[in-house]
Formats: sequence, C-alpha cells, structure tokens
Amino acid sequence: MPDVLLLALLVVAIATGWWLGRRERRHRGTGPAPPALARDYFVGLNYLLNDQQDQAIETFIGALEVNSDTVETHLALGNLFRNRSEADRALKIHQNLLARPTLTADQSERVQLELSRDFLALGLLDRAERLLEGLVRDAQDDELRASARRLLIDLLEREREWQAALDVALPKMVRQHDDIRRAAAHWLCELAEQERHSASPVLARRHLRQALATDARCVRANLLLAAMAHDTGQYKQAIKLLRRIPDQDPAYTPLMLEPLAHAYRLLDDEEGLVHGLRELLDQAPSTAVIALLAETLHHQGQEQEALALIREQLERRPSLDAIHQLLTLSRRQARAADDHIELLERHTLALVRARPRHRCRRCGFATETLHWQCPRCRNWGTMQPIDAPGEG
Ligand SMILES: [Zn+2]
Repeated sequence: MPDVLLLALLVVAIATGWWLGRRERRHRGTGPAPPALARDYFVGLNYLLNDQQDQAIETFIGALEVNSDTVETHLALGNLFRNRSEADRALKIHQNLLARPTLTADQSERVQLELSRDFLALGLLDRAERLLEGLVRDAQDDELRASARRLLIDLLEREREWQAALDVALPKMVRQHDDIRRAAAHWLCELAEQERHSASPVLARRHLRQALATDARCVRANLLLAAMAHDTGQYKQAIKLLRRIPDQDPAYTPLMLEPLAHAYRLLDDEEGLVHGLRELLDQAPSTAVIALLAETLHHQGQEQEALALIREQLERRPSLDAIHQLLTLSRRQARAADDHIELLERHTLALVRARPRHRCRRCGFATETLHWQCPRCRNWGTMQPIDAPGEG
C-alpha cells in the first residue's frame, strides 16, 4: 500500500521538476510551462483527497517532468518504487527517463542499469540480459560496467547458464572477490554434473580439476571426483579424494563419511575404515565421525568400546544424536527389547529426524537437504552440515 511519505516525495518531485523546467524554458525563452502539468497535478491531488492513492500515484508519475536537474530525483524515486516491490512503476519512470534526448551518456547508462534491475525484478530476464550485455560491452564508467557484469552473472545463474556465467566473470573478478571465486568453482561443478550424466567423464573431470584450481576449498569438486572414481570401481582412489575434504574445510567432514564408509566396505576393509576414522578424529573432533566410528566398532562386535566412545562424547559435547545412538546401542546390546528404552529411542529418532541438517553460515537459513547455493541469500558454498545440531 502506498504511504504518505512516498506521495509527498512524488508531489515534491513534480513541483521541483515543473519549477526547474519553467526556469529552463524561461532562460531559453520558450515560454511558460504547458498547462498539462497543472491539470495532471490537480487530477492527482483530487484522487488523493478521495483516498484513491494508486490512481494518484499513476497520475503523478505521468506528470513528472524530466530535465537535466531532476534525473537524480527520478532515479531515487524509481529505486524507491522497486524497493517497495512496485517494479512496474519503477519501470515506467525509468523508461520515461530513457526516452528523453537530453540525457548525458553517463545519465543514460545509469538509467539503463536501473531499467535492467526493474526487468530482473519483474522476471523479464531476456530484456534484462540484452540491456546488461550492452552495458558490459559499451559502458564508459568502470564502476557501472562492473555492476552490470555482476547483475548479468546473477541473471545467468538464475537461468543456469553456467558456461555463460564463467565467460562473463573476468579472471580479475574471480581473483579479487571471494564470493565470485566460490561461485565460479560451483559453476564448473554444475557443468561437470551435467557432463557426468551425459556420459562425458573426461570433460567432467577436467571441469572438476578446473574448479579446484579456481577455489582450492571447493569441497564439492572432490566429492564429485570421488563419486566418479567410485562409479568406475576405483574405491581406493575415491577414498584418497574423500580424505582431502577435511583439509579443505573441516565443516564438510560429515558429507564425506557415507561415501567413505561405502568405499571401505566395497573393499571389504572395515579395519581400514576404523583406522581412517580414528585418524579423522585426531585431526578434528566431530560428532558425525564419532557416530560412524561407534557404529562400525559395534558392527565389528566391539560393543563395549562403541558404548564407551559415545559416553565419552556425551560428557564432552551433549547432543541429541549421541543420546539417540547411546539408546540404540544399549538396546541392541541388551538384545531383549526393553520397552522403555525402545520408547525413548523412538522419540529421540523423531526429534533427530525433525531437525534441519544444514545451515547457511551467511544468512542462517536451515534445510534438511544440502543446497550448494543457499536458496535464501543465493551465496555458493555457504550451506554447511550442522555437525552437532544440539548446540548448532
Ligand atoms: Zn544463506
């Protein structure tokens, strides 16, 4: 709903536009302002008095006078509308501005940038893309060209045009900006996933190596390389690749545990798994690693050791996961199903399952499944497994 402040701003914008325009015309000797302004202005006021604010705004926008002195006011007004999710009105203002032959080259570029933001907000991606491509190619102002490039990258991401996004992001941008570097590595991973599924593993691997060269901390690239090694039965190679992940970013250790255990089991090497997990624990304490280690020890018949591990973990870092696992292991050890334990176990399981497993470290958005690009803030590689959700 339009508010008083906005309407006041519009009225001021019209009044100054009209006044400045009149002054200009007087200087040029082209006579007084045309009567159309006064008429629109009063029609708008009339709407306002009748509490028809939407019609008032439409009329006022129509009455806005553009001249060299009011471009700033128009730009501010357009942004105000767009920020209020009224991009269609912003679009009208900006198109109206752009149609004026009196704009300087610099002003025209700025209006075009705002216009492309309107198109983006309205979901008119093709029109935004054309405008932004023109600005990236021709804009004189360095800062404005960089802004256009950023917007174009954002748009290409939305369209899942990964290669195009890579082409638009300059090597210098990738080097200088952390977020673009992370994003570029993920675009390469996206390409690799497509190629992996369309049976071009050679190309996929090349893109994944490129992803790692772009961003050495790109966990996803090693996960994918490991999955591809796994596909072709190279389980040892898969393990080697997965083991690099905790060094890249320990927060992602929980993600590599399942494929790691799978690879060791296919090699029929549970000892190797236990050894590997102990090494991981020495490297960095992790609830998920302890859980898998306890499960594996239990599976090997080392029940006491498994229970001791979980109890120790609970002492140090109390968590719902550990309580649940302790219940499960206790019940399995007791063999005979104790009704109370079973009930408790069922409840803890429901609680464990009801919780989000991943959270964006940038904006805090939490979900069950891992998104490499946060659905809320659209940052790449900022969603992480919640290792000990009890405290996370
Ligand atoms: Zn986020």
